[in-house]
Amino acid sequence: MDFICPRIDRLISCYTCGAQSLPPFQLCEASHVNCPPCSKHMARCACGGRFARGPHLLLDWMVSALKFKCKYRAGIATGGGGGGGGSGDDACPLNRWYAVHELREHYRHECTRNAFPCPWNDCDHVARIETAADHYEEAHGPFQALIPTDVDRWHDVQFIIPPSTRADFVKKIFNGYFMFTMKYPTSPYRRKHPHLKPQITMRNLNPADQLQYTHDWEWDMFRKVIIVTVTIRELYDNC
Ligand SMILES: [Zn+2]
Ligand SMILES: [Zn+2]
Ligand SMILES: [Zn+2]
Ligand SMILES: [Zn+2]
Repeated sequence: MDFICPRIDRLISCYTCGAQSLPPFQLCEASHVNCPPCSKHMARCACGGRFARGPHLLLDWMVSALKFKCKYRAGIATGGGGGGGGSGDDACPLNRWYAVHELREHYRHECTRNAFPCPWNDCDHVARIETAADHYEEAHGPFQALIPTDVDRWHDVQFIIPPSTRADFVKKIFNGYFMFTMKYPTSPYRRKHPHLKPQITMRNLNPADQLQYTHDWEWDMFRKVIIVTVTIRELYDNC
């Protein structure tokens, strides 16, 4: 198979998260390709531009007429886990080119490099990186996605944790599923220091999400709630 452009993958790498993306594509005002999760859950493209309303039919048709390689094949850094070295194997051959519908099938049923065990407590389901979010919604959801309330701060989301929330909980924010764990100071200590804040850790459980996030939080003494802010740390460098 001859290719005019050996780096054909760049055509379909998402401008916002950098992942290989498959149609339907939604372009931003500056015509950057965005993958379906980014255009669905992000308020803006990484360039700050708004998304066009519908899919880009011309690009969808064109990409559907081309072939691509598995994104987990050996030697490709995926950032999402599953990859690894070696020379390919029978179920994920190194040099095979796939049409878009074949690639979708490959990721869902065939590839040996994208297994992903569900990290939820007491759940031993093994999904694939591509289907982990589907599994979360079916088995542990549904989750309401949190979106930015301020258009000028489209890269961060704020929410409130009610007082004395104890258990771990999960929030859907942008493309991620975040498991929050609260640790409160032990009670004798807390009686002496009533204003001591709990510690919050968060972990993104979506292996297909390549965005990086930071979180920050403050204790609102007046309302007695915790205000958490989750921010996209650095958007994928496309240069
Ligand atoms: Zn993306
Ligand atoms: Zn853009
Ligand atoms: Zn594969
Ligand atoms: Zn599970």
